[in-house]
Formats: sequence, C-alpha cells, structure tokens
Amino acid sequence: MNTLYVVATPIGNLKDISLRALEILKGVDLILCEDTRVTQKLLNHFDIKTKTLSYHQHSKLKKINYILELLKGGKNLALVSDAGTPGISDPGNKLVEEVVESLSAQVKIVTVPGPSAITAAASIAGVAMDKFLFLGFPPQKKKRKKYFEEVIKSKYPVIFYESPYRILKTLSELNQMFQVSGFKFQVVVCRELTKKFETVYRGTIEEVIEKIKKDPVKGEFVVVIYPIRK
Ligand code: SAM
Repeated sequence: MNTLYVVATPIGNLKDISLRALEILKGVDLILCEDTRVTQKLLNHFDIKTKTLSYHQHSKLKKINYILELLKGGKNLALVSDAGTPGISDPGNKLVEEVVESLSAQVKIVTVPGPSAITAAASIAGVAMDKFLFLGFPPQKKKRKKYFEEVIKSKYPVIFYESPYRILKTLSELNQMFQVSGFKFQVVVCRELTKKFETVYRGTIEEVIEKIKKDPVKGEFVVVIYPIRK
C-alpha cells in the first residue's frame, strides 16, 4: 500500500535522528518539507539524495491535489517539518487530515516518532507529567489574556512554546497575572534544547525572568509552569 510517513527530525542535535527516520528518508520517492532549505541541510549531513518539495499550511489547493495524486499514483512520501515532530504547532496536520479524509482506503499513514520540543521539556521539568496541558504559542494580540487565564487555571502543568522576541514580555505579563491570582508558580524555561547553548532556567517566575535577562535572549524556548502546592 502507498504510504505517507510522518517523520520526526532533530530539534537541534543531529545525532538525535533515528535509524528508522534515516532509512525512510532515503527510501521514499519524495520528502515534503516545511522549508526545503532547512531540510536540505539535514539531508546533506546524512548524504540523503531524495528530492524535496515544499509543503506548508498555506499551500495552495493545487499543490495539495498534486501531492494526493502522487500518493494515489503509487508514490511513497515522507512529511517532515523544520524540526521535531510534524503537526505539533507546525504544518503537517492539514495534509494528514486530507489524506485521512480522501485517501484512507488507498494510503497508509505511518508515524516515525522521534524528538519533539514538548516531550524533551516535559521529561526534564521535574514535575509529574502523567497529565499536562500543551497550549502551543501564546497568541500575540487577541485572546492573549484568555490564554494566560487558561495557564493559571490549569489543574495540570502547562507547557507552551515562545519565541526569543516575546519570551520576557510573556513571562512578565504572566507574572502580573500570577500576582493577582494569589497562587505561587514554579517555572522551568528550556532554551536551545540539545544545542550548544542549551540552558534550563528554574525558579519562581521573578527568579527566572532575572536569570534570562542576564544571558543573551536568543534561541528557541519552551516554558513549563506549574503551581507550587506547599
Ligand atoms: N513540531 C516541533 C516539535 O515537535 O518540537 C515544534 C515546532 S514549533 C513551530 C517551533 C517551536 O518549538 C520553537 O519556537 C520553540 O518554542 C520550540 N522549540 C523547537 N526546538 C527547540 C529547542 N531545541 N529548544 C527549545 N525549544 C524548541
């Protein structure tokens, strides 16, 4: 059966790629990428010659139909994003949705699991993660306050992504809301996981803000927040 492989790739350290991911990326007819230039670097590193095609959430219907035709016509494809697991706060789920809806009798969808910034951060947070709430990126304008209220009200640890341009703003706004709520929260901010400048900041939100300010605020961030119950 023709197959669409959804393949996780490293979030920084290229050694985190799985043997199976390499085998699949080498063996498929075409790799669908969020940004072909980013994926090409990974492919060059592992000497993989498979052709690539850009595919993203805003791809035109024409391109989506072209991809569906390739699958119908017997091609095996791999879908990757710039880093981590496709579909987790990045493009990917739309194509999987399309294939499930229109080609599920003809095309098998196979996961090739691996790194993801969420699970990497969750695994080192130091709090029980039997249940957690993942909220993606905070909205930049509308619904921002509502998003923060959801963080504060959550019964479970909350994980979200943030960019280096907004990390301090977001933590400061959350701090103001924490103060009003009267609860105390522990914060773990994971920066540049698996990369050269990997740093994990832990403490109350005020402590973490001060620590981040002392370093160059660069790189990629995952935030984990949970109430202190003592
Ligand atoms: N699908 C990806 C995954 O499974 O990890 C996430 C894609 S999302 C567009 C990218 C965001 O993930 C970044 O802005 C950052 O918040 C987080 N992220 C990705 N790589 C990271 C890393 N090495 N360290 C910390 N955060 C990272």
